[in-house]
Amino acid sequence: MTSAARDWHALAAGCRPDGRLLIDGRRRDSAAGETFGCVSPIDGRTIAQVARGQAADIDAAVASARRAFDDGRWAHKPPAVRKKILVRFAEKILGAKDELALLETLDMGKPIGDSLSVDVPASARCIAWYGEAIDKVYDEIAPTARSALALITREPMGVVGAIVPWNYPLLMTAWKLGPALAAGNSVVLKPSEKAPLTALRLAELAIEAGLPEGVFNVVPGYGHEAGEALALHMDVDAIGFTGSTRVGRKMLEYAGRSNLKRVYNELGGKSAFVVFDDCNDIARAARTAAGSLFFNQGESCNAPTRVLVHERVADEFIAVVQAQAPKYQPADPLNPDTAMGALVDDQQLRTVLGYIDTGCSEGARLVAGGRQALAETGGFYVEPTVFDGVTNQMRIAREEIFGPVMSVIRFSTEGEAVAIANDSPYGLQASVWSHQLDRAHRVARNLRAGTVHVNQYDEDDITVPFGGYKQSGNGRDKSLHAFDKYTELKTTWLRID
Ligand code: NAD
Repeated sequence: MTSAARDWHALAAGCRPDGRLLIDGRRRDSAAGETFGCVSPIDGRTIAQVARGQAADIDAAVASARRAFDDGRWAHKPPAVRKKILVRFAEKILGAKDELALLETLDMGKPIGDSLSVDVPASARCIAWYGEAIDKVYDEIAPTARSALALITREPMGVVGAIVPWNYPLLMTAWKLGPALAAGNSVVLKPSEKAPLTALRLAELAIEAGLPEGVFNVVPGYGHEAGEALALHMDVDAIGFTGSTRVGRKMLEYAGRSNLKRVYNELGGKSAFVVFDDCNDIARAARTAAGSLFFNQGESCNAPTRVLVHERVADEFIAVVQAQAPKYQPADPLNPDTAMGALVDDQQLRTVLGYIDTGCSEGARLVAGGRQALAETGGFYVEPTVFDGVTNQMRIAREEIFGPVMSVIRFSTEGEAVAIANDSPYGLQASVWSHQLDRAHRVARNLRAGTVHVNQYDEDDITVPFGGYKQSGNGRDKSLHAFDKYTELKTTWLRID
């Protein structure tokens, strides 16, 4: 049976996720025996009890990862062997596609069609890509005098702590795991307490694929308990963190207070989408802005939430966005035709509705949506929402809302557009829409963001780096550059007589 033809409601009704943590290759309860309820945002139902990992569990997971690293059961395997196991791991992920997609959708509310077509295959591709890459990466010999030989080699860091958010639970985990494992590290993962289920299942699949026990451990739990214990741990060599800028700051503090572990932060965004009046397809620009923003319920770090439109074409642009809104009306996430699902939880629903109120009271004009939807389901849904007449000083333009809310800011000159786009604490992504070659290049150069799109927003591939300028973080996920985060550079001098 194809995935699309499955009865997802029946499968959801029979789904009994295992919420126990995974250390040393084995599922177990937390040391204190405590759990927390995992609530599905689809209908507010508790779908699992999940182990509430705390400092003692993090200690056990780090000790397991350290043993695995020190005895070389993974780090000393030839790269070709690590490749084989990671490629098999990716195949296992694809083999469990329906199960993982269902868990992801139940856990955080995204449409099942997206979990099936984006999250699961992209996660498998990420793991396979780093596996495939690792036996093709060469080290260096420095161009020194003939009397010596200087080798510059990359070595695994050791024990990597990965702390990830709930908006793409599987994919963000894969972005850390792929390069960290391929390079030979051991990993302790702390998934978000709001969506921990797929990470736990992933660890089982890794072991089935042949990853040695202890190399990948998963400890679910709250940020201020398990997360803090991992980031403060004296025997963790690096933290790969994806999450909010607020918690990213704490990661740096924890490193300062403990062992100065490397910290790589992938943080929030408030990306600018700049549409000039010389763009020859305003309708496509508007459809792209709506599609990219409302995808994943607006819960994407790189969502184009600040849409800057030249005043001459702004009315036309907004009319198309308004016409698109019905397509993104929230609906049942378990229906394969749904385009927008549920927000992750009640807290996120309140945050998003609060920002919509703020936008109205700040004087922005609500031109689409603005209300809670499907309240009768017990789940957490918001209409696709568009504000016109936003200024860059308003809170809805400055702060990350993390929901389906677009702010349209009108401008009149190129200089003004670039100044507004760059006037943000964030610098994750940006987009410029213009069919004047000079302008497109000039503006792309002047935008302070880790990725700039020209006349599109949706291209993405594991081969390109992903990360931000300014308070959107440091380091880069994806591409070969991600190896920089999980390896140390060693210089070895040999004297040649
Ligand atoms: P968050 O910062 O609240 O939580 C992220 C993770 O950190 C979770 O696992 C959480 O339990 C943990 N955590 C929270 N407090 C902690 C503490 N005191 N010590 C240690 N760990 C702690 O973020 P979120 O709400 O889960 O995710 C949304 C955020 O993630 C948004 O800001 C979004 O932009 C960002 N994000 C960034 C990227 C990127 O690649 N730049 C990708 C996805 C999401």
